Amino acid sequence: MHRTEESPLSKCQRCGTCCKKGGPALHIEDQPIIDRGGIPVTSLFTIRKGERAFDNINGGMIGLTEEIVKIKSVPGAAACMHFNEADMSCRIYDHRPVECRTLECWNTSKIKAIYAQTRLNRALMVQKITWLAELVQTHEDRCSLERIQDLVQNRASDDPAAASELAEIINYDFHLRHLAAEKGGLPSEMADFLFGRPLAEIIPNQFGVNVRKTD
Ligand code: SF4
Ligand code: SF4
Repeated sequence: MHRTEESPLSKCQRCGTCCKKGGPALHIEDQPIIDRGGIPVTSLFTIRKGERAFDNINGGMIGLTEEIVKIKSVPGAAACMHFNEADMSCRIYDHRPVECRTLECWNTSKIKAIYAQTRLNRALMVQKITWLAELVQTHEDRCSLERIQDLVQNRASDDPAAASELAEIINYDFHLRHLAAEKGGLPSEMADFLFGRPLAEIIPNQFGVNVRKTD
């Protein structure tokens, strides 16, 4: 992926390096593929506005100004979950998203041109299912990273109300995921798409605040 325009490559060698670095972000062009089931929604997750994420084009960690919907990695590794390392193939090759179809590691100008354009987001993806759109928005309103950052700062200044609200939000995020599966009948694998990654993971990683589960 990091080879330059001077690279002697002129076509994909199927080395799998790009797939091993992580799944692609999705764009509006990918919605029809999702609609026909080519990319399972259960294989997606959301990195929400305000979260820190790696900038694949410019490198380094950045705070996201808009959310990204991506294909998940295999547990405990970076590789895209649709990458089959045994034969270096893509399990959804005929339905692979636009970033994968555009990436030419020997000429990165094409992927750079589309990378930050027409990004898909949850609101666009669930807009036709009103109750789901409302559920996603309700969670976002309650658990925005902006609010969490404020609470973390106030908690550090020994504000007990901030500590208490932060705990409430983490509980809310935890229970909503379970309720969506148990009462709403949604596959539990959809939770990280609908609500982003669990706050119990994001808050320690991004803000350095330990989250301890109690009864
Ligand atoms: S695009 Fe490049 S890095 Fe990706 S599989 Fe092909 S040769 Fe390997
Ligand atoms: S969707 Fe397929 S081509 Fe794209 S990163 Fe995953 S395994 Fe590679």
